Amino acid sequence: METANIKTPPMYKAQGDMFLADYECEREIYCPDQKMPSLTIKSLRVCRFCNKKFGEVSFKKEAHIFPVALGNKYLVSDFECDSCNHIFGTYEDDLCKYLGIERTLSKTEGRKDIPGFVSSNIRATKQPILGQLDAIKIEPNNGGEIFGFNPETNTRTITYKKPAYVPVNVYKALLKMALCCVAKGDLKYYQKAFKFLTSSDLDGKIKACYLFGYRLPINYTDMFGVLYRKRYDSLKTMTHTFILYYGSFMLQIFLPFYQKDLKHYTDLHLPIMPPLFDGTGDEKWVASYAIKDDLSSPEKRIGEEEVLHMKISEEDLKNMVAIDPFTKKVVERKSSPPNVAGIFIVDKDFKFKLD
Ligand SMILES: [Zn+2]
Repeated sequence: METANIKTPPMYKAQGDMFLADYECEREIYCPDQKMPSLTIKSLRVCRFCNKKFGEVSFKKEAHIFPVALGNKYLVSDFECDSCNHIFGTYEDDLCKYLGIERTLSKTEGRKDIPGFVSSNIRATKQPILGQLDAIKIEPNNGGEIFGFNPETNTRTITYKKPAYVPVNVYKALLKMALCCVAKGDLKYYQKAFKFLTSSDLDGKIKACYLFGYRLPINYTDMFGVLYRKRYDSLKTMTHTFILYYGSFMLQIFLPFYQKDLKHYTDLHLPIMPPLFDGTGDEKWVASYAIKDDLSSPEKRIGEEEVLHMKISEEDLKNMVAIDPFTKKVVERKSSPPNVAGIFIVDKDFKFKLD
């Protein structure tokens, strides 16, 4: 299975074949690097989500299809009114919280610079070190313990707490992106999905807001989405599934409430897209990062913990040094110092000079 330059590792071939037996690509959506031409003029716009026309609602704001906070500058739509845009902003905030430290680690430039990340026990910020201007410094917040190291597997771990977020809002943020990608002819079959998206009336009543996917040991620096459609109406799966590639994440949802799918709801089978690699990263690492999360609840999740695993190669160990936090000078080469005050993450090909 291949999309652009990415492909699935051989060990996931069966899963890929199963997915492609049911689904074919309907649309790939990339973020352009300049303003989009030929949007419908404002006075003729109708909101896809609340179905209201210009005059009933306003269209003053730029409506981004994928969040600005995840690095999208120019991919905008002409079918999202300001009221719906305001509601979706809340969902996107929760999505960012769900993604935790990812926006900082993947150096996503949102509205301004690379965002810092702070939660109850961790702080991550862009800071210069040994000549690299945009290294990421990770340190405990409030005196907690966040770093671990397993010398047998050469794995460093960072265990931290995410900020509180509302699960169903995370799901809705992804659903909104997906519904922006659906063709006009299908919109009439998604009316209940739009109702779910634009109000809280159905929150908690829908029990199947599942998120699937993977964390990959690579970084999709340019976010993109793919909408897949099932090959035959008679297949007992959802008509559309959408996958967002962002940073180290592949996030997959099945679009709910497509009218013609309802008859299959008691006996559904949901094929999951296998992990895709772009040629970088260690493929063996993917299994420990599978995501299957029920995001149906409107109740806040507080203090959810995430463990990041960083495999350190022999080569990396040779390049690792301890730095005195006060003098910012390299003290000695050491792979696992007992008292780690913080870690700086520099670019893979970065070479510093020892004093
Ligand atoms: Zn609207």
